[in-house]
Amino acid sequence: LVVLSDVNKHFGALHVLQDIDLTIHRGEVVVVIGPSGSGKSTLCRTINRLETIDSGSITIDGKPLPQEGRELARLRSDVGMVFQSFNLFAHKTVLENVMLGQIKVRKTDKKEAETRARALLDRVGVGAQADKYPAQLSGGQQQRVAIARALAMGPKVILFDEPTSALDPEMINEVLEVMQQLAREGMTMVVVTHEMGFARSAANRVVFMADGRIIEQASPEEFFSNPRSDRAKDFLSKIL
Ligand code: ATP
Ligand code: MG
Repeated sequence: LVVLSDVNKHFGALHVLQDIDLTIHRGEVVVVIGPSGSGKSTLCRTINRLETIDSGSITIDGKPLPQEGRELARLRSDVGMVFQSFNLFAHKTVLENVMLGQIKVRKTDKKEAETRARALLDRVGVGAQADKYPAQLSGGQQQRVAIARALAMGPKVILFDEPTSALDPEMINEVLEVMQQLAREGMTMVVVTHEMGFARSAANRVVFMADGRIIEQASPEEFFSNPRSDRAKDFLSKIL
C-alpha cells in the first residue's frame, strides 16, 4: 500500500532519514520504535507530505505522493494522522471536528457527515460528548475524537505519532483499546509508540530506527525475544 524506497531527508547538516526502504502492506500494523531523535516522527510526516524528502520515492497504491493543491488535500485524507497533541480545532465542537474534513475535502453532504460523525464518536466511546468543545474533554477523550476525525475521512492508512505520550496513565488504555480494535478490524496503521504491550499484541511488524536508519524489522515475537543489533538490544534493555 505504502512504499518508501531509498528515502533521504536532511534538516540542514542533519541527515534525519537515511536510505529508508519500507513497505507497508494493506491491513498491516507496523509499530516504529527507537530512541529520541532517530527520525520516527519525520518518517511519519513524510508519508502524508507534512515533510518533503530530498531523494528517493514514496508511493501510495503505486502512485507518487501529490505535491500540491486539491490532490494534496486528498492525500491528507487518505493518510490520516493522529498526533501526540490531539490537534483538534479548539473553537469547534467535537461533532464539528469530525464533520469538517468530510464536508470540505470529501464533499460529503452535511446530513450524511453528521450521521457518520455521530456513529464514529459512538464507536470510540465519546458519543455523549458530541456537543462539547475539546477543552471540556479529558485527554483520552480528545485523542479518541482525533481518531474518529481521522476515520471519518475513510483513510487508507492512519499514522499515529506517540498517540498516548501526552496522556495521564489512566487514560492510556482507553486510547490503546480503540487502536487495538482498529487493528483487529484490518485498518492499515503505522504507530510510533513507547507502549511495548501494544507493540507485542497488535503489531504485525516492529521497525526499529536509530540515527535516521531502519536498523532492523521483525515480528514482535522475534524482535522482543531476539533483537539482532546491538542498538536494539541496548534500547530494549533501557525500556523493558
Ligand atoms: P522523539 O522520540 O523525540 O519524538 P523522533 O524519532 O520522532 O524523536 P524526529 O522528530 O523525527 O525524531 O527528529 C529527528 C531529528 O530531526 C532530530 O534530531 C530533530 O531535532 C530533527 N528535526 C526534526 N524536525 C526538525 C525541523 N523541522 N527542523 C530541524 N530539525 C528537525
Ligand atoms: Mg517523534
